[in-house]
Amino acid sequence: MSTQRIDVLGVKFDSTSLEKAVQQGLALVEQHNASYVVTPNPEIVLEAEHNKDLQYALGAASLVLPDGIGVIYSAKILGTPLEGRVTGIDFATRMLEELAKRNGSVFLLGAKPGVAEKAGENMKEMFPGLRVVGTHDGYFKEEDPVIEEINAVKPDFLFVCLGFPKQEIFMHENTSRLDVGIMAGLGGCLDVFSGEVERAPDAFQKAGLEWLYRLYKEPSRFRRMAKLPKVLFKSAGRRLKGSKDE
Ligand code: UDP
Repeated sequence: MSTQRIDVLGVKFDSTSLEKAVQQGLALVEQHNASYVVTPNPEIVLEAEHNKDLQYALGAASLVLPDGIGVIYSAKILGTPLEGRVTGIDFATRMLEELAKRNGSVFLLGAKPGVAEKAGENMKEMFPGLRVVGTHDGYFKEEDPVIEEINAVKPDFLFVCLGFPKQEIFMHENTSRLDVGIMAGLGGCLDVFSGEVERAPDAFQKAGLEWLYRLYKEPSRFRRMAKLPKVLFKSAGRRLKGSKDE
């Protein structure tokens, strides 16, 4: 089950839907090869232009999901639209729902001390049947003991919530050492599952304005969010240049 990949400023995204991505994710859990999923937003796309390690990490992912309306608009501007937006949190939520039905397991790595534990408690309530087999905060100095802890429980799904580019590089560098079904770089998802950060209301999500709500809640993110129009301008520039060259 492979999907078409669409290039947005050097990052090749899967043109897929949430349900197709989840089916692919579940198939990868079965293979138990520590395949990994990335969910790049405009900030990650721009960072990958000059960060080779991040670029390689994104290139080696089994699933590259377009998280963020900026990526969807850019693909449209470039003349190669993607099937739709698949956010990391939606992918994670649907995966947990499906894993719970199969009595599957999850290990939560990342965020500030205490957050993953709290997220795990909430997940057990939200997804009866799901086994939360381990948690670890995202501020460790040495990787080896963390990897040993994860491998001791062989989770079906490993959340890697270390922020970018750390989480993508961690997954890429440790694929061969990790005994997990699948893993995904999920940014601030544990903060949301723990209840520390609330997700935008449905209306904002449906309108593709989750970023606007987040900006309203956390104005300090303004500098980071300025990357969104930048990615659109760059895509427009690329498209115009392309049509001149044709
Ligand atoms: N984080 C971490 N270790 C680090 C740096 C960040 O565990 O060394 C966590 C941070 O606590 C937060 C997440 O990574 O929970 C990144 O969240 P952010 O909202 O910045 O990510 P986004 O979803 O915007 O990519």
